[in-house]
Amino acid sequence: MISRPQTERDNAFHILTLGCSKNRVDSDGMEHLLRQRGMRPTADPDGAEVVIVNTCGFLGAARQESIDAIQGVMDRRQDGQVVIAAGCMPALGNHATEIPAGVDHILSTREWYRIGEVVGGLLGEPDLPEVAGCEGMLTTFRRSEAGPFAYVKVADGCDHACAFCTIPSIKGRQVSKRPLHVLQEVVDLVAGGTREVVLVAQDTIRYGADLGMKNGLPALLESIVEQVPDLAWLRMLYIYPSPLTLKMVDVMAKHDVLLPYLDMPIQHADRDVLRSMNRPSDIDMTRRLIAHARESLTDPVMRTTLIVGYPGETEAQFETLYRFVEEMRFDHVGVFTYSPEEGTKAATLPDVVPAEVAERRRAAIMELQNGISLAHNGALVGSTIQVLVEGVGEAEDELGGTEPISVGRARRHAPEVDGLVFIPGAHQIGALLDVRVEEAGPYDLWAADPLATVAGPVADGAFGREATRRRVPTGRSRVGSRRGTRGRGRPVPMATPAGT
Ligand code: SF4
Repeated sequence: MISRPQTERDNAFHILTLGCSKNRVDSDGMEHLLRQRGMRPTADPDGAEVVIVNTCGFLGAARQESIDAIQGVMDRRQDGQVVIAAGCMPALGNHATEIPAGVDHILSTREWYRIGEVVGGLLGEPDLPEVAGCEGMLTTFRRSEAGPFAYVKVADGCDHACAFCTIPSIKGRQVSKRPLHVLQEVVDLVAGGTREVVLVAQDTIRYGADLGMKNGLPALLESIVEQVPDLAWLRMLYIYPSPLTLKMVDVMAKHDVLLPYLDMPIQHADRDVLRSMNRPSDIDMTRRLIAHARESLTDPVMRTTLIVGYPGETEAQFETLYRFVEEMRFDHVGVFTYSPEEGTKAATLPDVVPAEVAERRRAAIMELQNGISLAHNGALVGSTIQVLVEGVGEAEDELGGTEPISVGRARRHAPEVDGLVFIPGAHQIGALLDVRVEEAGPYDLWAADPLATVAGPVADGAFGREATRRRVPTGRSRVGSRRGTRGRGRPVPMATPAGT
């Protein structure tokens, strides 16, 4: 512990996280390292001695949001406050220069684990010994605060070269966290009360390939199931379409803790568009993978992401995609309009699709998917589902009266991108409840009073998430999360997706 003269802001840090779940994990890691230096987190940037903006550099819109966020911090900067720009933007050589002048340090996404020494240097403190278990950007750490769910990043970087994507140039090739370190993180999370662990990477199905593992992800899943029996739900996101998926599905089918949820971003269904994207163009293989999951899993849930308006996409090619979505009847779909990114092959292609055409195509798929999602959800009315409670708030009735309401997610809902379940009454955050579905929309479900508590929270009152039903029936807005972020996804995002 460092001892320094105290002011109100001394030793306080604030991290503003932008971008994807992988960035959030890095922010968790930075928080852990700063706490190890004896610092404390604060939700108030004005009350922090150190403010870190963990930026997203994936898309032009995301970079602009990052620039605005840094500028906002700089405009309100207090005397003596240290400002650090971290994350993906600094890793993008040509865009790093867009970071507003005057920040005290720029730390690339590949260097987040150096945050302790950087802050120490800026505050004029002596070096601390290297943190045990420090493995560069895959450093293992313990979350200081467990939530009902947590992302665990099992690998970073990507070995693919999708023509529209900047991630390989930001992150480099894939490096996987060692299985024992992943296990340790999961064990720590569950000990802290976390019910659901979500494994993420740029391409999660390739986990372990760089470690020489042939079926790395299935082996990792088996070992988590065996070694962490108290974990309630385990979910994997970002599964690149590949035959490796078959083995993973076989393991998923054996264990109830492995949610029957397949998130396989396919991006398109037309062979020529897929070839131009430098993606797997054998769409029949994708069909076989989905069919295998549907045959093998109980109550399977399928999610995918798509890009419309890719350079050269003709009406006929879009029609192929539309028909594929109709045929596959995914449960959840994210549709993105193509966004050209400097330095990518796709940005150099001719036959740019006009923005209004891309938007019309996006809207057409959204409308199609809304009907499919509504049918999937409508079929659940009257059935019993398990829900993980994530927040408690108040619902407002027509007369302006209020009543308590809880909000959570079912096994079919991934955090932040899918729907929610609303349950009357104030229930323990972190509890797993059995509820009967009474009403369904295309995204969200409404349930009756719980039939049973499957498992209560380990740490009573440890988690906080606000919920108000009032905003939900009209705008279908997501409620604020524990970290103050808003849900995104469903079939509404506007630009190219982040990963896989
Ligand atoms: S889209 Fe996904 S799989 Fe393709 S290069 Fe980007 S991160 Fe890798």
